[in-house]
Parts: sequence; structure tokens; C-alpha cells
Amino acid sequence: MTSSPLPLSTWARNVSPSPTLSIDAKAKAMMAAGEDVCGFAAGEPDFDTPEHIKEACIAALRSGKTKYAPTPGIEPLRQAIAEKYAADYGLKVTPAQVVVSPGGKFSCYLAILATCSPGDEVIIPAPYWVSYPEMVKLAGAVPKYILADDSTGFRMTASQLEAAITPKSRMLVLNSPSNPTGAVYTRSELEAIVAVAVKHNLVIMSDEIYEYLTYDGVRHVAPATFGPEVEARTIIVSGFSKPYSMTGWRLGTLVAPAHVAKAVGELQSQMTSNATSFAQYGALAALKEKEKTRVALSAMLVAFDRRRKFLHAELNKIPGIECLLAQGAFYLFPKISKFGLSSQEFCARLLDTEKVAAVPGSAFGAEGYMRISYATSDETLAKGVARLAKFCKAL
Ligand SMILES: *Cc1c(COP(=O)(O)O)cnc(C)c1O
Repeated sequence: MTSSPLPLSTWARNVSPSPTLSIDAKAKAMMAAGEDVCGFAAGEPDFDTPEHIKEACIAALRSGKTKYAPTPGIEPLRQAIAEKYAADYGLKVTPAQVVVSPGGKFSCYLAILATCSPGDEVIIPAPYWVSYPEMVKLAGAVPKYILADDSTGFRMTASQLEAAITPKSRMLVLNSPSNPTGAVYTRSELEAIVAVAVKHNLVIMSDEIYEYLTYDGVRHVAPATFGPEVEARTIIVSGFSKPYSMTGWRLGTLVAPAHVAKAVGELQSQMTSNATSFAQYGALAALKEKEKTRVALSAMLVAFDRRRKFLHAELNKIPGIECLLAQGAFYLFPKISKFGLSSQEFCARLLDTEKVAAVPGSAFGAEGYMRISYATSDETLAKGVARLAKFCKAL
């Protein structure tokens, strides 16, 4: 019998694996092999999940919450998520509009699958989170990019959006605060952008997973608050990973008009069923035990803010590097184009020679930059940035 290799599908052949996860995996493998690596590639908080959240999950597990749960999420959690949006933004959300999924990433994919058909165009502002284009392609839809570089603080303008619209435009992706740049849109910028989206009847997928991670007194603005016309076309995607250090738990949320949420729940029912039942009780504690959660979140924010300022100052001391002070998430996105290397080459050599892991801008659709995550200890940050300075000096 001849053995020709098993053919793969067009989906499998065309998907690019997550570059952030693979660089992080390489850095972790080097560390496991005893190398002294400074990891700036990870997209997750370096804190442990707060104790009260863990305890609630353990209690749920002990009390036998180990069976299938309702597909769109356990009722008290959907209720608590609806209440959160009312408390934070004054949005009138019912539990029927809420879906709990196995991760914010999956929430995004379901939002796309529920509203975009093959051939539809999805407008993605770059620098973008690495998963959006791949998810759009896996839905048979077509990603269209708008580059917003550091000249506009990595924020797309309404006129850029207007210019990118075609008859096939279906969805606009918004992600403020942004991964990878940390940029936070202002209310007036968002209002102008959203007006264009309304005019052209676009679905808005607003990925707000970094909503609580803002600095300098800046507050996140939720586009869905701009009125019923906007709310009726907006799908808010979020999750527990970033605000509560729960990346490994795999719990995402989605809030949408009821018929969209219903469709999302039906897709989820065939693709994976419910998010892990006992994990949802941990998430419930995150939302219900507000004071404990607030204390944990503020401690994390204090550390992030200190590192953000330190990293920003140190990066700008390095000749050739220019870096904006982002006001959200836990990333900075310095410009490295003056060194004359592709961002891929720059990051590969940085990892090989100085053992500093960072993600090239090209992975986010923005050549000439790199992403540095400061969700790492102060010591690692100081050591890594010193190595980066040495590396740049030698170029
Ligand atoms: C981390 C992240 C998510 C989702 O993360 P999950 O762990 O899947 O909940 C979604 N969007 C952005 C921009 C992120 O950085």
C-alpha cells in the first residue's frame, strides 16, 4: 500500500497558527531548558486568579456541579453579566442577550459566524489582535484592513473607515483598549466611527476584554451606549481572562441583541456545548463578591501602571526606538523601523542573542513595530529592557 500523506482541508492549510502563542511557547521551552529568557510575548496577566474566585469554583466542583449546564451559560452568571453592563454602562441587558462561552476568543468567532456569510467583508483596524483575520477567514468571510500607525496614536479615523467601505462590508471590529497597542479610543473618536458604521448598516463587534485595564484616569467607553440604533447592531465580546487573571479557565462572554445571542447559543450548542460548568461558578464569584474583586483588580492595576511608565521611559532612552505611552491593556508598541530590519528579523535576533521574547509588529499587521507585554515582573522588565538596549546598540 502506498502511503501518500493524508490531505488537509483548505481551512487547515490556510490558517496561520497564533504567532503570539508560538513565540511565547518557544520562550517557555527555552526557559524550561534552563535558559534565562525575559518573556515579553505573553498576552496574559502574570498574577494568579484571586483566591475567592478559586474557592467558589472548588466549592462548585465539590458540590457536584460537574454535569452539562445550559448551553449559553448558567442562569445566575448570565444574570450577573447583564447586571454588570447595567451597573457599568447603564445598558439595559437581559440574560437572554448574554452568552457565556469557552473564552473571549471563541466569543469573537461565534459573533462572526452568527452575522457574517461567506464573501462578506469584515473591516479590521490594524495593528490588530492576531486572531481576528484568521477567524474571519474560517467563517468564509474576507478580512479588510485599515492601518492606523503611531501618527494617529494607532487609532483609526472615521474618514479612514468611510474610505474602506464597499457594498460587501458587513462587520466592523473595534478593540479598545487595544491588543497589541494599548491604545484607547476617546468618546468623540468612537462616536464619529460608529456614525459611519450606522450609516453603512455594519455590525459592530466590540471586543472590550481590556475594559477595566486603563490608566491616567482614562475610562473605557462602550459604543453600545451611544443609543438604541447602535446597541441594536453591536455585539460586545469580553471575558474573564484579562480583568481577573483567569486565562486558563477559558471563559468568555458575549452580549448582543436577543436574536443574535440566540443564534450564537445555537451555534455553540453544536460546536462545544456549555463552557465548563464549575468554572462558571468561579466567574460568578468574580462578579458577585465585588469588594474582593475590586481589591484584586486595583492591586493588579497599580503594578501594571508602574511597569507601563517604567517601560515607556526606558524604551524612549534607547537611541532609535520611539514609543507612545499607551493608556490601556498591558502592552506597549514601540517603533523599531529605524534599525532597518524587518520586525520578524529584529525579534528573532533579539530572542537568539539576548534571550528577550517579544512579538514582531508584522504579526499584528503593522511592520516596523514590536509588541512588548509588561504583564511580567518588575525585575524581568528591567533586565529585559537593558538587554534590548544592548541589542539595539550593537545593531
Ligand atoms: C486575550 C484576548 C481575548 C480573549 O481571550 P480569552 O482568553 O479567549 O478570553 C480577546 N480579545 C483580545 C484582544 C485579547 O487580547
